[in-house]
Amino acid sequence: MIESQTTPFEFYPISVPTQDSLRTVNFYLLSIKNQLLLFDAGWTGDAYWQALKQTLKESHFELEDITGIVLSHHHIDHCGLVNQIVEKHEIPVYAHKKAFPRLQREETFLRTRIQFFEALYRKFDCWDRGEAQVDYLKRSLEKNRHLAVKANLSPVEEAPLDGLNALHFPGHAPDQIGLWEQTNGILFGGDVLIQHISSNALVEPNENGERLPTLHQSVESLKAIASLPVQLIHSGHGSVIHDPQALVKKRLSRIDQKGDKIISLIEKGASTGREIALSYYGSTYDQQFSLVMSEIIGQLDYLEIKGKIDKTIKDGIYHYSPVNKI
Ligand SMILES: [Zn+2]
Repeated sequence: MIESQTTPFEFYPISVPTQDSLRTVNFYLLSIKNQLLLFDAGWTGDAYWQALKQTLKESHFELEDITGIVLSHHHIDHCGLVNQIVEKHEIPVYAHKKAFPRLQREETFLRTRIQFFEALYRKFDCWDRGEAQVDYLKRSLEKNRHLAVKANLSPVEEAPLDGLNALHFPGHAPDQIGLWEQTNGILFGGDVLIQHISSNALVEPNENGERLPTLHQSVESLKAIASLPVQLIHSGHGSVIHDPQALVKKRLSRIDQKGDKIISLIEKGASTGREIALSYYGSTYDQQFSLVMSEIIGQLDYLEIKGKIDKTIKDGIYHYSPVNKI
């Protein structure tokens, strides 16, 4: 008898509709050889638990058949059921190492993170609005303590992926990974690329409290995806991506367009982060402060890396200017 050369691989999507712009939260059962892995674990709540149970039933599995959980990144809409599953059925949970302090809501790390944002918003001239955001983060630290993932975490390199590869795609989150299935050209991408919305590059510190160039990282991750012979992407939200190359191109050109607009605002005299954010986003600056500042800070760092703008520091505040064109 000739053995098949291809890896026996099947997957079962679990998709729960949401009322917000995410449209759906998606997670996946991956059956690889004698492993049944859960890639991501939805949000907390009965709808997610029922959806998992339903998909297990339809694919003729039981909860006890799951051999491990792999998380694409630490955001709460991707790890919601971990505690509930592990309480009933103790299995290993794998994630990128950078996800560990975030998933476990490690007190020292979260306090360093809050200090990072306090200093960050000052550098970008945000004062009152920045302080309000820092107060919100301090309240969230207390309020969200119960969301800490209580399972023992293992680095994703140790996951029994048998033929699948875990690829690191930082940008949206420092710990974002995707699972790459080369035989069929399928990527389980988490939030690295979403069909109907652009995946935000959220400003974050590294473990030492230093700012990560998150938009630059996102661009590099998108380029890395485009360099794979990828046919389909199963994302953390929304529908399946059937033409990943075209979507990457669209996202990259949108990032460049936004960068060009920021350069033109700086040329017109907007100088600090707050001034640039206000001239770009108007009242959205107040309403969606942390997202707006992530976008602006990501762009400013990226434009500076590319040598398209200059930065000087006066009294601890960043001032941006156009690069003198010769
Ligand atoms: Zn996310």
